[in-house]
Amino acid sequence: MPSPPDPAASSLAPASPAPEAPAEGRGDQDSPASWDCQACGACCRNLDVNQASGVRYWVEIAAADKILTRQDLVRKLVTYDRARVPHLRMTHDGTCEALRGTIGGRVTCSIYHQRPSPCRRVMPGDDTCVRSRAACGL
Ligand code: SF4
Ligand code: SF4
Repeated sequence: MPSPPDPAASSLAPASPAPEAPAEGRGDQDSPASWDCQACGACCRNLDVNQASGVRYWVEIAAADKILTRQDLVRKLVTYDRARVPHLRMTHDGTCEALRGTIGGRVTCSIYHQRPSPCRRVMPGDDTCVRSRAACGL
């Protein structure tokens, strides 16, 4: 994991926490591409290096993301930075408020079908995934 805060990561995002993605059919479990997101969730947590430097926003929500059309979800899960850019709300330890379960254990995304676009981009084994897992000791 990089030591300096990563501005790109702070607005980039968590994975496709694929918390709901099927685990089967992913092939070799030793291969990063086969990691089971439902037994991980690491990319749903802001990196410590970001938090330590005061960067508390992790998942930026795009204007076209469906979650913004759901007022109930906006009230519960969306927060805005000083520029009024929407982001997912994080808990005190930097974990997305929508994540259910314990990182590294069984997890699921409670808004899987409405999750923002950055969440859909991260793939098991990519840079964000590997960095997020390392930050969580996985
Ligand atoms: S860090 Fe990787 S394995 Fe873990 S939930 Fe995100 S994409 Fe899946
Ligand atoms: S919305 Fe879902 S996939 Fe995105 S960070 Fe939160 S728990 Fe993870």
